[in-house]
Amino acid sequence: MTLPLEVENLTFGYNGRPVLQGVSFRLMPGEVLGLIGPNGAGKSTLIRLAAGLLRPLEGMVRLFGRAPQDWPPRALARQAALVPQGAYIPPTFTVWESALLGRTPYLGFLGVPRERDRQATWRALERVGIAHLADRFIGQLSGGERQRVVLARALAQEPRCLLLDEPTTHLDIHHQVAILSLIRRMALEDGIGVLIVLHDLNLASTFADRLALLVDGRLIALGDPRDVLRSDRLLAIYGSGITVFPRPDDGGRPVVLPRYWDEAVCLTE
Ligand code: ADP
Repeated sequence: MTLPLEVENLTFGYNGRPVLQGVSFRLMPGEVLGLIGPNGAGKSTLIRLAAGLLRPLEGMVRLFGRAPQDWPPRALARQAALVPQGAYIPPTFTVWESALLGRTPYLGFLGVPRERDRQATWRALERVGIAHLADRFIGQLSGGERQRVVLARALAQEPRCLLLDEPTTHLDIHHQVAILSLIRRMALEDGIGVLIVLHDLNLASTFADRLALLVDGRLIALGDPRDVLRSDRLLAIYGSGITVFPRPDDGGRPVVLPRYWDEAVCLTE
């Protein structure tokens, strides 16, 4: 079976400064794998490497059995969709036109959308709850609405692997829950592999099947949220300003709460 994503002994750095070192994991079909870790740990860099925007210095990345760079670009875009942080969409495009961009890898020679493309675009807009905004210009949307357009564009691509870099940052809690529930359901029902960067540990704990914890470019834990989000580990990484509880209503999945921290006198980074 070719897997949505395989990362093996991946090492990368910018300008000779190491950012990722010896990272290995596999993303299974139908799985939501949450990528977590402190600021600057290398999460976005890992997503960019997975999408083929960067090349490994050592080790390898395989999307459905091949290095991203070895896929013809249109074929790759039908397999995997990337939602980068702060993705840009021209403000003069409408919501409909922006989501339709996700169909680019399917369009024929003249680029005219067919019924199938229109259907996939509507479905994506409906799924993220913005079909009623189809005629609005991007410049007239709130940050949260714009974020949902970017996600709709990725869903319109109908990928088998989703690479998402903090896709819910600008959303309120209702929309965060709605979007992450949708992503989880899609993964399960359509067998899509999802690698998702989430800096909110509670969202990660609630919505991911497994978590991958990156610290200083190394994968220090990989597995069930209950094992990865252990209190002693999080205190060592994030400092004493947190408390971790098992949730009684969700199989003991951990909840991470902030706590007043008397010694938090300065930020070192
Ligand atoms: P995270 O997503 O976990 O916050 P990043 O992958 O964005 O971490 O960044 C990891 C490290 O790489 C940081 O120290 C960051 O400053 C550095 N970095 C990120 N992008 C670049 C770049 N284009 N050029 C040089 N350094 C970068």
